Amino acid sequence: MSSPQIAGAVVRRWLALALETVAAHEEELGRLDAAAGDGDHGATMVRGLRAAVAAAEKVNGSDGQLLAAAGAAFADAAGGASGALVGALLTTTGRTLGDGPYDTPSVVKALQAGLTMVKRLGKAQPGDKTLIDALQPFVDALAAQPPDQPLAAAWRAALPAARQGAAATASMVAKRGRSAKLGERSLGHADPGAVSLALLLQAAEAVLPSATDR
Ligand code: ADP
Ligand code: MG
Repeated sequence: MSSPQIAGAVVRRWLALALETVAAHEEELGRLDAAAGDGDHGATMVRGLRAAVAAAEKVNGSDGQLLAAAGAAFADAAGGASGALVGALLTTTGRTLGDGPYDTPSVVKALQAGLTMVKRLGKAQPGDKTLIDALQPFVDALAAQPPDQPLAAAWRAALPAARQGAAATASMVAKRGRSAKLGERSLGHADPGAVSLALLLQAAEAVLPSATDR
């Protein structure tokens, strides 16, 4: 069925589903973080997403504007490394998206800007066992899709790269963030930030309008 998109509706639906998805994995994320960190990652993500949902409800605007506002609220409420980094990712991606268009090349460009910001702030590179190990492969896979591919289809095709990237962190030793201090202890456990980032991307797949709705 074809229906016009209401401004901001996709980001609102994404945040609601992201919160639901991450909350369902809160304990698992906490356990992963406890392996070499402080065990708070699940709680941090849930707190940040709750604030992001609330912020997006208050803002009237485009999907890009809502995403930027949600990122700021996320960073404020979540705190910690992931609060600052995921918040900056959402804010930079939202600002770059602006008022659209929200086609595959524009979304690739916006996510690349977000990824660059995360690297600049956190000084981590692929292989350091961070959320970048899920985000970078996903952005690269999305960028490799045909530019005229509808966003929902391109996203679906790129999603396995995020999941595989997150899973691959289990065999890495943490070089950044809190868990770098106990790096070797993180071996055998996936990075919590990479796992939660893959969950955020997975939630987005379910809310992106199919080609017939655009
Ligand atoms: P904290 O480490 O402050 O307790 P969280 O536990 O919420 O914060 O988040 C930890 C996650 O943050 C890690 O699993 C990792 O993915 C991510 N992270 C930490 N430091 C960095 C960094 N410098 N660059 C990228 N991601 C990072
Ligand atoms: Mg932690």
